[in-house]
Amino acid sequence: MTDPTLQDIHRLGRQVLPVSQTIHLTLDARRPDFTGSVRVELDVRETVLAFRLHARDLRFDRLTLNQGEHLIAATHTGERGWVTITVASELHPGLCTLEIEFSGKFSARASSLYRGRVGEDWYAFTQFESDDARGAFPCWDEPCFKIPYQLTLTIPSAHQAISNTPVKQETTKVGWKTLEFERTKPVPTYLLAIITGPLETVPVPGMGVPGCIATPRGQTHLAAEAVKVTAPILKALEDYFGRPYPYEKLDQIAVPEFWFGAMENPGAVTYTDTALLMDSRAASALQRKRLVTIIAHEFSHMWFGNLVTMEWWDDLWLNESFASWMGDKISDRLFPELCVADAEINGADRAMLTDAKLSTRAIRQPVRAQDNLMQSADELAYQKGQRVLGMFERWIGPDRFRHGVLDYLARHEWGNARAADLWAALSSASGRDLTAAMSTFLDQGGVPLLSIDGDGETLRLSQRRFLNFGQKEQTPALWKIPVSLRFSDGSVRDLLFEDPHAVIALDGKRPEWIHPNVNEQGYCRWKIPSEMLRSMTRNAPEHLNTRERIGLLANLSALLDAGEVRGDEYLQVLADFAADPHPGVVGGVLDALAKVRQVFLTPDLAPAFASFLRCVVRPALDRFGLTRQQSEVEGVSFLRPRLLYLLADDGGDEALVKHGESLAAAYLTDPASVDPALAAAALRIAALHGDAASFAAFRQKFETAAVPVDRQRLLQALGDFRDDRLVNEAIAYVLAGPLRPQEIFVIPRVVAMGALKNENRAFEWMTANYDAIVDRIPPEQGAYLARFADGCSLDRLEAAQRFFTSVREKEAAHGITGTERELAKVADSVRNCVSLREREGAAVAGFLKGIA
Ligand SMILES: [Zn+2]
Repeated sequence: MTDPTLQDIHRLGRQVLPVSQTIHLTLDARRPDFTGSVRVELDVRETVLAFRLHARDLRFDRLTLNQGEHLIAATHTGERGWVTITVASELHPGLCTLEIEFSGKFSARASSLYRGRVGEDWYAFTQFESDDARGAFPCWDEPCFKIPYQLTLTIPSAHQAISNTPVKQETTKVGWKTLEFERTKPVPTYLLAIITGPLETVPVPGMGVPGCIATPRGQTHLAAEAVKVTAPILKALEDYFGRPYPYEKLDQIAVPEFWFGAMENPGAVTYTDTALLMDSRAASALQRKRLVTIIAHEFSHMWFGNLVTMEWWDDLWLNESFASWMGDKISDRLFPELCVADAEINGADRAMLTDAKLSTRAIRQPVRAQDNLMQSADELAYQKGQRVLGMFERWIGPDRFRHGVLDYLARHEWGNARAADLWAALSSASGRDLTAAMSTFLDQGGVPLLSIDGDGETLRLSQRRFLNFGQKEQTPALWKIPVSLRFSDGSVRDLLFEDPHAVIALDGKRPEWIHPNVNEQGYCRWKIPSEMLRSMTRNAPEHLNTRERIGLLANLSALLDAGEVRGDEYLQVLADFAADPHPGVVGGVLDALAKVRQVFLTPDLAPAFASFLRCVVRPALDRFGLTRQQSEVEGVSFLRPRLLYLLADDGGDEALVKHGESLAAAYLTDPASVDPALAAAALRIAALHGDAASFAAFRQKFETAAVPVDRQRLLQALGDFRDDRLVNEAIAYVLAGPLRPQEIFVIPRVVAMGALKNENRAFEWMTANYDAIVDRIPPEQGAYLARFADGCSLDRLEAAQRFFTSVREKEAAHGITGTERELAKVADSVRNCVSLREREGAAVAGFLKGIA
């Protein structure tokens, strides 16, 4: 079959290929525009009259094309990110050189080459994935064009600059300096990086290559945690991959204006400052966990994504799922106290929730150049991919899996590869056909439901697509699932289940229960007879490990969506599991209660829900304690703030409100005086009954915060004020205040999730301020504005459908694509929510009122 992507008229041609490129930019982040020049060595493969490259919003001041000694007469025209160069007479095969001088403007939307201010200082940053390098300089902006680049920057002499390679030479001229960076290894454009401004750096010792943490001026004292964990993470990855880190240096840069968590540019990894920088004396375990897992994820890309790169964006999911899988594996091994493996369950559950909807998609599918390329970087690309890789690693064994990975890297290093190349390497390392089995999870959407039925003597295993209540699949789907069954006597049976049905041989045993997804490692939902479920959950901590107990709650919640479990049965299990000794399991109960709240809570039911929380959740807080104990596991510090906030807000527990308020007061005086794990919850609780004076104080602290996490906590708390006037003030502040692009959704979301009467506020804010919002966010993020219609309201959904139809032309003008797909997902989720409320509302209300 021909690769559909090669027939994509929006892809660049293969007749004229770039071989190497030099880029010279003159960047003064204090000014809104910049100038530059590029020189591209080209290999003309076929005789052509014209060829294309990428450039967006750049003005070409001069363009020359030379073949050998000959100057070739050429003209250029540009539209929508492309430039077509037309030659006067045929361009024949051979090498030629293209030179362009150009000028452009910095973006203000945290994408491409953009600038941002910290205090009085200006900085310039880049974020090129997926197709935004073309906004900084003319280039061949597709991942298959992996070539060496040599970058030169001319910047104000008071500024510093970092790029992918070390500086080779520096020259100065009055007021300016020119930094010539070393030539890069072959890289795609989306991995190039430039950061300039009055940066400061701290060296990172212990790596095989030089590296530093770079921060905006005056923040290097917040880099100690990152310095500490970097070398061990890099070492662990080098051990797994059996080869050293493949680039010349490894700098990590804290970027205050940054939409994503981080970006894996080789040699110059960029991070949102809230992830990379923290005060060591006041860092919570949750912050350290985020730091460690993000660094491990980005560093995994150095081999997977950077050394070997996807050929086209249809394999972006493989980059991301591999980095998530590898990053979590390494983080969990190095820092077991951070419970990284438990968090994976929530991620996989999110992916399965998406996959339960008919609007889901196959994880791997054709992507066209004009699509929203980052839209495929969703919970399927990251979390489903991660779970599927883990499931197949378990099936063939970690050693064989690793050998396959190493073989794949060796075969494709410095080049491009496709998913099929990895499956082939894994199949050959294991002697099993992974291609066929993995294809059932990658090339079709959906998640399988594994069911066990029978009377105890004869048991039957069956599979079908898991769907929410009332939905029917068009064509029956079948998966090849590596299944691991555990019986109540402790024995385990592994099989590759590829038929619709199978009989489970019991060999005379009559198991009390069978768990169909041992260690919750398979990508599937599961269902067992209710007798078995009751017997398994009766003493769950004895029968099931932590992952299985957390997974059981998520699975039960999905069965509720499917109409397989009643609302009151569900709440009874939540009540039982709230007594679990493990904080991660109680965290799973809180996740489930957040869903109960979203779907079922009405003003009428609020008092009963509050009593339920005080009766069922409060004992957990009493058990784990109101304050940190020396001996406690870190999981408790993840849970405690959640318990506090829920009980203070929905639980209406006045003593806890007072407690939160006093912690917040102490924090505002001296942040180091409060357990860092409780700071965010305390501020949010204090906001609930806060007045105008405390709103003003929070806002002032937000604007002057010196530590990124303080800024984040205070911004979130501004959304928690419930007084109507303050809600209005908070919402008005979003676009009027000094918020960064990645911060503008925080307050509207918190407001909408707070008081029931405010649930429409975020959607109303978005529609009323659409133009101002899309001016400030990266273009590919525009599609996600559809999520403001999520929830349980058909009216809001219909309003959203009308609204997005009315802004089609504006979307096109802003380069926004992909809204319809997001809206379809939201529509599915709203209808599921409404259906669940109608079906189970009475049972849930009855149960809650019974407890009250
Ligand atoms: Zn990634």
